[in-house]
Amino acid sequence: MRIIVIGGGIGGLALAAGLRRNGFDVAVFERDTDVTATGGYHITLDGRAQEALRRLVPPEIVERLLASSSALRLRDPDAFWDWHGRLLGHGPRLADSPSVDIDRITLRTLLADAVGDDLHLGQTVTAIGHADDGTPQVVLADGTTQRCDLLVGADGAHSLVAGHLAGGPTNRPVGIIGFSGRTAAGDLGPLERERLGPRSGMVFAPRGAALYVGFLDPVGNAVLDAPHLRASVTSGPTYIWGAMFPESAATDALRGLRADELRDALLARFRRHGWAESPLEVIAQADPGSIAAFRFNAASTRAQDLAPWPAGPITALGDAVHATPPTAGMGAGAAIRDAASLLTHLCEVTAGTSALPVAVSQFEADMRVRGAEILTLAMRTVRWILATDTPLGAAVTTAATPMIAAAGRLRRLR
Ligand SMILES: Cc1cc2nc3c(=O)[nH]c(=O)nc-3n(C[C@H](O)[C@H](O)[C@H](O)COP(=O)(O)OP(=O)(O)OC[C@H]3O[C@@H](n4cnc5c(N)ncnc54)[C@H](O)[C@@H]3O)c2cc1C
Repeated sequence: MRIIVIGGGIGGLALAAGLRRNGFDVAVFERDTDVTATGGYHITLDGRAQEALRRLVPPEIVERLLASSSALRLRDPDAFWDWHGRLLGHGPRLADSPSVDIDRITLRTLLADAVGDDLHLGQTVTAIGHADDGTPQVVLADGTTQRCDLLVGADGAHSLVAGHLAGGPTNRPVGIIGFSGRTAAGDLGPLERERLGPRSGMVFAPRGAALYVGFLDPVGNAVLDAPHLRASVTSGPTYIWGAMFPESAATDALRGLRADELRDALLARFRRHGWAESPLEVIAQADPGSIAAFRFNAASTRAQDLAPWPAGPITALGDAVHATPPTAGMGAGAAIRDAASLLTHLCEVTAGTSALPVAVSQFEADMRVRGAEILTLAMRTVRWILATDTPLGAAVTTAATPMIAAAGRLRRLR
C-alpha cells in the first residue's frame, strides 16, 4: 500500500516513522527545507503520547528522545500568581507524573531521523484530488503529480487536505494572541529565580492579560542519565514563557515588531495594565531573538464536528482536524496518538482483517473523541482569560485575587 503524507511536522513524521517501521511504502512531502529551521518552544508528551511513540519509532529513537527530555516528576508543583507577583496557590504534586517536556526542534529532528529518506523536504503540495482511476493524487509546486492508495493530511492548522475534505476551514481564531520567548534561568536576578523556582506557572490578571511560565531543564531534570544521547536544543534551566492578550487593533500592531522592539512593547503593555516588575522580569531578560507572536486557533470542542466527512482514501490528522490552542499542552501529543491509531488500523488492512475505508473510518472515530477531549481542556483556560476581559470578570479578578493570596499566606503560616 502506497501512502502519501502531506506535512512533516510532529504528527506527519510520527506517522511516517511508524509506517516505515511496519513495511509500508510511504512518502512525506514537507514544504520546509530544513527540519531544524522551525519555530516552536517546548512540547509536553504525556504517558499516552509516549506509549504511542514507542509503537511508532524504533527503540533507539525513543532512548534519544527521553535522554533529551525534561521530566515533570522532577519539577515542583505548578504555581499560580497574580499580576503583583502574589502567590494564589499551587497545582497538584507532580512526583507521579509520567509526562516529559522536549524542545519542539529536538522532537521534530529525532522523528525525521526515524523517517530517513522517505521525508522529502522543500516540497510544497499545491493541490489534491483524484486521478482518473479514482486513487488520491497530489500536485507539487514544481507541477509534478504523485498517486497513492491513501493520502494523509498532516499539514497543520491551515490544512489544504482537511479544508478540501470539509469544504472550508476546520478551525477559527479564538480571539487570543500569544507572544512567546525563552529566558535562561541564570539571566534572572536571584530573587526572581528563587520566586519562580523549578516549576511552571501562570500569572492571572484582569483585562485578559495572562502570562504562562514553563520550566524546562533537559540537562538537570533529564529523564534518562544518558548525556551521550542528548540532542536537546535547551542546554540548561530555562523558562519558556507565553504572554496572552485578547486580540485587538493594539495587539495586531505588536505582530509587526521583532526582537528587542517586541519585548519592550510587551513590557510596556503589561506595565500599562498595572503589572508589578517581578512577574515581568522573565520577559525583560528573554533572549530577544527567541520572541515570536502566534495566533490561537481552535476547532470545535464537539466530537461530531471534527472530521465531518465520509471516510475514504483521503484523511487528515493532528492540527489539520483538531487545531488546539497551546493552553493544555496536548496538541502535539494528540497528533502522535492519531498517528499510532491510524497505523494500528492500517496494519489490520495488511493483515487482511479490515478494509481500507473501514480502517480509516475507525481511525477517524477515535480521533474525534481524542480531539474533543483536548479541545475541551484547552478552551477552559482560553474562556477564563477572555472572561477576565469583561467588566464583571475584571472586577471579580481585581477583588478576589488579593483575598485568595491572603488566604494562601495564612494557610502557609499555619
Ligand atoms: C512553527 C510551529 C511552532 C510550534 N510551537 C509549538 C510549541 O512551542 N509548543 C506547542 O505545544 N505546540 C507548538 N506548535 C504546535 C504543535 O507543534 C502542533 O499542535 C502539533 O505538533 C500538531 O502537529 P501537526 O503535525 O498536526 O502539525 P504541525 O506540527 O503544525 O505540522 C504541519 C506541517 O505541515 C507542513 N505543511 C503545511 N502545509 C503544507 C503543504 N501544502 N505542503 C507541504 N507541507 C505543508 C508545515 O510546514 C508543517 O511542518 C507549533 C507549531 C508550529 C507549526
